[in-house]
Amino acid sequence: MKSSALARSFAKLGLLSRFDFVLHLPLRYEDETALTAPDAAPSGKPVLIQARVERAEVAYRPRRQLIVHAEGLVLRFFNFYASQLKQLKRAAEDGMMVRAYGEVRAGFFGAEMAHPRYRIVREDEPLPDTLTPIYPTTAGLGQAKLRSRVLRALDEAALEDTLPEPLRKTHRLKNFAESVRLLHRPPPGIALAALADRSHEAWQRMKFDELLAQQLSMRFAYQKRHTRRAHRLPPRGALFKRFVEKLPFKLTGAQRRAAQEVLRDLAEPKPMQRLLQGDVGSGKTIVAALACLAAVDGGHQAAVMAPTEILSEQHWRKFSEWLGALGVRIAWLHGALNKKQKTLALEQIAAGQAQIVIGTHALVQAGVEFASLALAVVDEQHRFGVGQRLQLRRKAEQTWPHQLMMSATPIPRTLSMTYYADLDVSVIDELPPGRRPVATRLVSAARRSEVLARIRDACAEDQQAYWVCPVIEESKEGDLQTALDTHHKLKQELKAIRVGLLHGRIAPAEKAAVMEEFQKGKIQLLVCTTVIEVGVDVPNASLMVIESAERFGLSQLHQLRGRVGRGSRDSVCILLYGNALSPAARERLKVIFEHTDGFEIARRDLQLRGPGEYLGERQSGVPLLRFADLEKDIALIEAARQAAVELIEDNPAAARAHVERWLGSREELTHA
Ligand code: ADP
Ligand code: MG
Repeated sequence: MKSSALARSFAKLGLLSRFDFVLHLPLRYEDETALTAPDAAPSGKPVLIQARVERAEVAYRPRRQLIVHAEGLVLRFFNFYASQLKQLKRAAEDGMMVRAYGEVRAGFFGAEMAHPRYRIVREDEPLPDTLTPIYPTTAGLGQAKLRSRVLRALDEAALEDTLPEPLRKTHRLKNFAESVRLLHRPPPGIALAALADRSHEAWQRMKFDELLAQQLSMRFAYQKRHTRRAHRLPPRGALFKRFVEKLPFKLTGAQRRAAQEVLRDLAEPKPMQRLLQGDVGSGKTIVAALACLAAVDGGHQAAVMAPTEILSEQHWRKFSEWLGALGVRIAWLHGALNKKQKTLALEQIAAGQAQIVIGTHALVQAGVEFASLALAVVDEQHRFGVGQRLQLRRKAEQTWPHQLMMSATPIPRTLSMTYYADLDVSVIDELPPGRRPVATRLVSAARRSEVLARIRDACAEDQQAYWVCPVIEESKEGDLQTALDTHHKLKQELKAIRVGLLHGRIAPAEKAAVMEEFQKGKIQLLVCTTVIEVGVDVPNASLMVIESAERFGLSQLHQLRGRVGRGSRDSVCILLYGNALSPAARERLKVIFEHTDGFEIARRDLQLRGPGEYLGERQSGVPLLRFADLEKDIALIEAARQAAVELIEDNPAAARAHVERWLGSREELTHA
């Protein structure tokens, strides 16, 4: 293997620095510390056998294979290199031994092994005195090569402990060098189960160190951010006061608290990085509007970025309705602008005439220059990658903009303690008054006609409804067809009802038109895909039908359901399901049927699916955990959090050294 190819393979595994190799820990072990006689090998359990090579030959029946006859043992290889044949022939001539590891079966010639891992050895070659580690590897990188590099790094590295003695004592941690050596080279007879489930104290030490490195690096990033400058924004400026005097509704206690937290941050000369979290419909938008007013009052600009055109339009409408009357100038950058309109909008943004700018990720594209961006609001932040959020931040020249991120997807506690530890969080844990819980019904697709009757009833009472189709990928023709077919069919079935269609591939201008008609009640039933999943707010819609609900994820179902129950009427969400439900789908439907609390649903989602879904949100923004498990290692997470605080306080040099050891070569991935 060429050294550049080798380096690429190592890089793929994240192995760059020497310590990366030291911390590349085995998946499992093989016991090659003792030999077994061929006729004494138990079945179904791999053993190490050593036997003298007698001859090696290629046979062609029943298929081409290399057969090696050794004393009391036959080895068979169906894939082999010519060089192997040569090597084994030479071994036979020289009277050498083959040492093979694998399962023994009774074959035609007696004891047989198929495709064992083997080595040619001299009779007196000593056996290893520790178990053989098997490492996670990647295609094209052999175990032997990887192992020799890892073990060499282990032998060459200085394994001094980065944790001071008192801290190790408090947290009852085993010494680092001993732990890492034991994991790479465990002695025979060790409790393998404790290594396999990572409950062994050596594993506990590694997981603790990993979690501590993550906690420390998040804290460092947080401190670093606080050394940056941001505009101080007046918490109660003239516009702000005028708006507060005639708010469209009375803020809930939770909204007021969240707004106060945000405004307090905005008044500081360092950039805010706050997550505003509140279940669907809890009223995050108005808090964002108040924050934007602080920016405008300060003589600067605010940008509001939403993940979809529909949502950005809705924000534009809301902001115009609320703030337009105060004379605040709002620009909406959207896909349906023609060239002239777009140029004009960009000019107004660059000149500072547009005080609040609303749009999709189009906001972060080249050509959008702000005169003075002081606040960046990112709605439904989990829909954006870290990269896009960073780009928005870079739109401010000298200073950093304050950032307000909003999400209805609650972050489970384990994640907020780890991957989100560098964010300040405000929670809106109260819904506006008068909301009625949405009743959820599980209905078999066979009872579709009853569902149609419900839609007729609702529309007869001037209510509106959504019919959501399971379009997984809007870019796929076949997938989209479901929505088109359903639309067609429902139009036939519900002749008296005005049915509209909305999906991701409709041109922006038309999309906006459809949405407006629905908003105004001209469309009574909106057949749609998950384009309406986030943020859409039409209070008069009180019925939602989700077709093939079993195909949706939990957080998606929760978001979709949140589109109804926004008005004063009782709302219903009907989950239509097919008849062949997988156990996982059954479980999901059960959770969504039984729970309405977003936090609980997110917790179940994390259990059912693991953290991948949430981590997509952060992408490369934070060091990923390789060893610790968010569910199982909650006690270690708590301990590492506490230790991080102590270590930065008592011994910052040790804290730096610890982060360097664990994340040194990954620095560029963390907190760009
Ligand atoms: P989300 O948190 O899901 O983004 P929105 O900000 O879209 O929620 O608010 C949902 C709906 O509730 C909107 O129609 C909004 O105008 C309304 N609303 C927000 N806060 C209040 C309140 N305190 N009292 C009454 N209605 C409110
Ligand atoms: Mg919203």
